[in-house]
Amino acid sequence: MYLRTCATGPLSGSLTGSEVIRVAGALVLNATYEPLCVVTLRRAVVLVLAEKAFVVEAGSDVMHSARVAIPVPTVVRLAHYVRVPYRREVPLTRRAVLDRDGYACVYCGTRADTIDHVRPRSRGGQHVWTNVVAACARCNHRKGDRLLGELGWHLRVAPTQPPATVAVVMGWAKRDPAWERYLGLTPGADAAGEYAAPA
Ligand SMILES: [Zn+2]
Repeated sequence: MYLRTCATGPLSGSLTGSEVIRVAGALVLNATYEPLCVVTLRRAVVLVLAEKAFVVEAGSDVMHSARVAIPVPTVVRLAHYVRVPYRREVPLTRRAVLDRDGYACVYCGTRADTIDHVRPRSRGGQHVWTNVVAACARCNHRKGDRLLGELGWHLRVAPTQPPATVAVVMGWAKRDPAWERYLGLTPGADAAGEYAAPA
């Protein structure tokens, strides 16, 4: 079930109705609200119509099938719990670091397109989430192989490893804001207003 539900690649399905193009996909939650994957809207609607999933969050758009109209889901929850074979960590890539830091240089706040090791690798710094930050090319160059203390620079926020749930949405260019609290990025992941498609 898990593999079948989550195996569809991003936007592989063709969507009907121009009104649904604005949201790229739907976040799929396990029965326990643990995020599993992102699927196309078409796939999410199929799951709901088959009563394999319930709509947890929906946008204002409505999708019509031959018999029913359902709100276009942004988050769905599986009706039955599925065992997750493993939970991979978010891979430490340049893009993932830039994404975590909002593409803003942690030193000056301008747009970042490079990553910097806070403690330089030449000074024993490790290539780990807690030592890698987004930086603009200018700050990166100015910093060179020096430590922050030697420059009088400081970090406003200590870099952290993103929760593993973020890996679920990696690779999706568009992320619906409604997904955030289910990914553990904002507190208060309580669900309200859950409804199934009419039979
Ligand atoms: Zn900078």
